[in-house]
Amino acid sequence: TKTIKNVICTFCGTLCDDLEVDVTDDGKKILQVRNACAIGAEKYLHVGNPGRVIVPRMRQADGTYKDVSYDEAIDFTAKTLLKAKKPLFYGWSSTNCEAISAGNVLAEKTGGVIDNCATVCHGSSLLAIQDTGVPSCTLGEVKNRADRIIFWGCNPAHAHPRHMSRYSIFPRGFFTAKGQKGRKIICVDCRETDTAKVADAFVRIKQSYDYEIIDAFRTVLRGEEIPAEVGGVPAEKIKEVIEILKSGRFVTLFFGMGLTHTLGRNHNIDEAINFIRDLNDYTKAVLIAMRGHYNVTGAGQVLGWQYGYPFACDLSRLTVARHNPGETTSVDLLVRHEVDACVVIASDLAAHFPFEATRVMASIPTITIDPHISMSTELSDLHIPVAIVGVEVGGCCYRMDNVPIETRKCVDAPEGVLDDEELFNRIAKRVDEILAEN
Ligand code: SF4
Repeated sequence: TKTIKNVICTFCGTLCDDLEVDVTDDGKKILQVRNACAIGAEKYLHVGNPGRVIVPRMRQADGTYKDVSYDEAIDFTAKTLLKAKKPLFYGWSSTNCEAISAGNVLAEKTGGVIDNCATVCHGSSLLAIQDTGVPSCTLGEVKNRADRIIFWGCNPAHAHPRHMSRYSIFPRGFFTAKGQKGRKIICVDCRETDTAKVADAFVRIKQSYDYEIIDAFRTVLRGEEIPAEVGGVPAEKIKEVIEILKSGRFVTLFFGMGLTHTLGRNHNIDEAINFIRDLNDYTKAVLIAMRGHYNVTGAGQVLGWQYGYPFACDLSRLTVARHNPGETTSVDLLVRHEVDACVVIASDLAAHFPFEATRVMASIPTITIDPHISMSTELSDLHIPVAIVGVEVGGCCYRMDNVPIETRKCVDAPEGVLDDEELFNRIAKRVDEILAEN
């Protein structure tokens, strides 16, 4: 047995970097995982699952799947993409930046639209951040400095289990030696989550009244009067929260889809950013989006540095990327039948998109690239299994605070299974060959 230390957990956007993984001497099997939370550990312990798909599967006329070689799968994918007028490449949040970059090359060659999971999660946050700017910091600074934490529309107790023990509520840092005792935790949500149960103040708001509440916070901060109740919250409670925040040395607002997907969407985030800016007149204050999949932040980074926009980039004009949420976003393209082939990669479109968008996806040629069986793989014409990033292959991923972290390989992938980057390079090469032949 050998132990690999400082392994990066590639499950959620917290990207915990302190896992210890025991593997067999031949580097083929994971025996034990330490330090991970329950969901993180499951990812590592299920790698050797005997039911795992390790060869591509092509859908047959009778609806069953037939095993095919990687060469056949690559040829089918290249031909499908070249035949399509406008293919959609959706997903990218559970793979490394190297694969995303290689995928962008393929999308450029085939004049596709490249979009990531932000399109249905923090896309509205990214729009607001591009419009307004963002006062932010790293999770390390939160651990070492923050004594006031706000969780708004997010529930890390379930979605990011170690976030609270490593960065936000419990840890003792350089200027936060008392840990939880020295911090005040405020939770704003329309329901009492498990995170709300450990908060010092829980602000229960009426659903979709987030904008009004932030506006009321800003009004109180300026010393002006507000109505007796705003969005289901008494004025006294709003004033109490503002006093807690003003008395802190370092405030961090973590926000999730409970803020980005309620009425107002990107305007909620605009308002939250402005609230944090206002708070900086009294104390240091920052905000950080609670990103879900482990490299959804990286997907936005790669698109951002290559095309200038973090999601929904239409490359069909080949010379310039177009980005127009509502027009170049995946759900809209699918429900308007504007794409005629689909590659789902490192995400499960069918599990998260509206029914109509999923129905259209299932009606056009679709290739799903995923180590696991998912709802999308079962609606696809071709399922190509790949190596698992952070377990069987390394690569760069971005934590939720935009810090790039190099993930590690712990065990070998099953023999013959390609990784995402290699697969995209080979599809792009096959596209070039077909173009040269014709
Ligand atoms: Fe993995 Fe997230 Fe759990 Fe950390 S909190 S161990 S990154 S699933």
